[in-house]
Amino acid sequence: MQTPVFLDHLPDVNTVTGEKPARYRLARNKALLELMLDRDTTWTVRRNCPACGGDCAKSKNFSQTLLEFQRCSDCNTIYAQRVPSQQTLDRLRLDIISRKETGDTGNTREFEYISLMNWISLTEARLQRPLDKVVDIRFASHATAWPESTRRLSHNRSWDFLPLSLENAGFDNIGERLRNIAPRAVLMPTELDRVADPEALVRTIKHSVPAGTVIFIASSCADGLEYEILGADSPSFIPLDRLTVFSIKGFEALCAKVRLSVLEISTPGRLDAVILDRYFKTTENSNIPFWSGFFREADQNRLHDLQILLQRSLRSGVLRFVLET
Ligand SMILES: [Zn+2]
Repeated sequence: MQTPVFLDHLPDVNTVTGEKPARYRLARNKALLELMLDRDTTWTVRRNCPACGGDCAKSKNFSQTLLEFQRCSDCNTIYAQRVPSQQTLDRLRLDIISRKETGDTGNTREFEYISLMNWISLTEARLQRPLDKVVDIRFASHATAWPESTRRLSHNRSWDFLPLSLENAGFDNIGERLRNIAPRAVLMPTELDRVADPEALVRTIKHSVPAGTVIFIASSCADGLEYEILGADSPSFIPLDRLTVFSIKGFEALCAKVRLSVLEISTPGRLDAVILDRYFKTTENSNIPFWSGFFREADQNRLHDLQILLQRSLRSGVLRFVLET
């Protein structure tokens, strides 16, 4: 199994701790609080681990603020005990997209877009199989400059975009569109951690595409060092966007259950080192053996080396899986 490394320079920590991301985080938490105070909201019963099926009663508390989250003692996945319906989640996301608080301003995410296109190109070269017909699932809904970037930079593929929509509750429309398009590849960079039932979504994709279709999935990663050290205090932990934070082992278990072959696993996250650096240099009482001293004296070279080590050892805060149906 390959563990590629994806770091040229360290990113700016303000992409997660700046004013705009802070406003987005507050808006999402306000929406969650309103949902919790609304007596008409329907919540699922207490879930077992949505990754490996491990018993919720045996897991440990990850966070009890806002919503109760567990960390699975079998596979390390972090998950909300109860979640609202998919229709409610979709409505709240469309609401925040319409208010343009998604943190996406024009081409400021071009680095991320190019990274996704390179991911497909490199996999295509490695598999020696044309991935010339790609379906994007819901990423274009909030990354508004993404379709234009694919037109400009990805000439040798046709792209279809399946946006988030209220007309079609659940994932039925995704299945229907995929059956009509019959793609060679499916790209889903942001959905897994924020849908009510990630297994249902993965099953829908698997059962709606031809055999041999390559699926590219990215998500937040519970094995990341930022979650290990900061837990629910991590600035990346926005409960409504992180209803299930899969671990590598947890997502492997889900793929085995759904009968998807895993072709590649990587954790290309770039932010763990700069987030932790900021935390240890600005927070009082942050006295954690080894790490406090490590970050207090860390310069840019040390942070860069640490982030590469995290990527190589599958311990960064973002996971990527390449799967095959
Ligand atoms: Zn589990």
